[in-house]
Amino acid sequence: MADSYDVVIIGGGPGGYNCAIRCGQLGLKVACIESRATLGGTCLNVGCIPSKALLHASELYEEAKERFESYGIGFDALSLDLDRMMAQKADAVDGLTKGVAFLFKKNKVEWISGRGKVAGKGKVEVTGADGTRTLEAGQIVIAAGSEVAPLPGVEIDETRIVSSTGALALEEVPDRMVVIGAGVIGLELGSVWRRLGAEVTVVEYLDRIMPGADADVVKTAQKLFAKQGMQFRLGTKVEGVDASGKTLKVSVSPAKGGDSETIETDVVLVCIGRRPATQDLGLETIGVEADKRGVIPADDHLKVADGVWAIGDCVAGPMLAHKAEEEGVAVAERIAGKAGHVDYGVIPSVVYTAPEIAWVGATEDALKEAGRDYKTGNFPMMANSRARTNHTTDGMVKILADAKTDEVLGVHIVATGAGELIAEAALAMAFRASSEDIARTCHAHPTLSEAVRQAAMGVEGWTMQA
Ligand code: FAD
Ligand code: NAD
Repeated sequence: MADSYDVVIIGGGPGGYNCAIRCGQLGLKVACIESRATLGGTCLNVGCIPSKALLHASELYEEAKERFESYGIGFDALSLDLDRMMAQKADAVDGLTKGVAFLFKKNKVEWISGRGKVAGKGKVEVTGADGTRTLEAGQIVIAAGSEVAPLPGVEIDETRIVSSTGALALEEVPDRMVVIGAGVIGLELGSVWRRLGAEVTVVEYLDRIMPGADADVVKTAQKLFAKQGMQFRLGTKVEGVDASGKTLKVSVSPAKGGDSETIETDVVLVCIGRRPATQDLGLETIGVEADKRGVIPADDHLKVADGVWAIGDCVAGPMLAHKAEEEGVAVAERIAGKAGHVDYGVIPSVVYTAPEIAWVGATEDALKEAGRDYKTGNFPMMANSRARTNHTTDGMVKILADAKTDEVLGVHIVATGAGELIAEAALAMAFRASSEDIARTCHAHPTLSEAVRQAAMGVEGWTMQA
């Protein structure tokens, strides 16, 4: 007889593992199938966690090199041990992936190692080291995640022409790196290798960096990244990479047409987006077809078909770990008969550069496009006392609020600590706060969070520190 579960989840990333743990907490008999050797998905193994470990370490290295002296801190010699830096990254990954395995045990989630695919209504086939077997599932949750989007004409070998996965594991600091795509990965991993000594050139097809972020934030951030030494080639198309010689030759041309030229480099990082990993999931057995980008069609409750749900990077919406996590919990709760809910309007985005960039809600361009009447409050980090004491005065906070009701519609921050500061804005927006609610909430002094309050005060024109 087939093994039988209330819920079978395909994929053990942030979507799948949070769904599984919540199902366990709600008393459901649950199994989670994962084909990797460890749980945690892209995020814990080759995404959020290893990238942040390298961002943190490389930021400390640059801080020591460039700024310690100005704080009155001296040392004899600064050196870089890349192997040790990679080892601390591996430690963070190892601890957290094991942590998920521990939470599975604690919440009675069965981890099944292998590749899962839907085999018709209520059936999931798993192929692992011991062969193939079929599980019976009251409900199936697909949480298969995403993979690197390929660039035609550029073959990734993960040694010299790398995706984010290879860029997290380079064995030495390259002299030069060309990053294709000025999105989140390009800016984060480009920053890591620039800080460690590479000359980084970012080639972007559009005439701006970070599509999706507020235009003021982008302008401020791009100036800061350029000052740090990152070179940008915007409005530029990559035609191909010649890997036949000792160095790589990247041919580029203006996106709007024009003559080609060659950029010589040692490593190319391809990061032009990710696509849902939805091939070979057996979707046809339940009459479902992914769209041409690979996105699984799901309704507003993330239901794909009777007894089948899909969450995270393989469905529509931002490809973010916390969005996948929210969806995982909501689906588990819906399966258990509760009112699971995701508030898509308040999902924050953070780019972990220095300074960080973070936002939640609408951009100013989106409000203009929608014809919304809005007010703006701005505050420069230069006028924040804690930023002054910490010598982290680059950046700003911008708050957009409805002109009539004063409800906060969007918050955009470029600042050291922006990734932490944005949580206050997301919470305020989740409770539909007005800018005055933030402005009249006492914030501790001296903290960076006062800049958020001052920007909120700026919406009504009573900013005090500028
Ligand atoms: P995934 O994490 O991709 O997990 C899916 C899992 O399913 C994988 O482990 C896969 O092996 C498994 N799987 C797939 N198919 C099958 C099958 N048929 N059978 C069994 N197992 C299967 N997001 C953030 O919010 N913050 C960040 O700082 C951040 N940094 C990132 C940095 C990098 C370099 C990258 C690449 C991504 C980053 N992301 C970040 C994005 C984040 O990793 C994803 O949004 C998140 O992991 C999506 O979670 P998921 O559960 O949907 O999918
Ligand atoms: P992205 O969508 O953030 O950026 C891709 C960039 O590549 C865009 O600017 C796009 O215009 C550009 N581009 C597309 N085709 C191009 C071409 N042919 N030539 C030059 N440029 C081109 O994608 P990403 O940086 O690869 O990251 C993938 C996803 O992973 C992100 O969308 C995000 O959801 C997730 N991620 C999140 C974080 C975070 O939250 N901090 C970090 C890393 C990754």
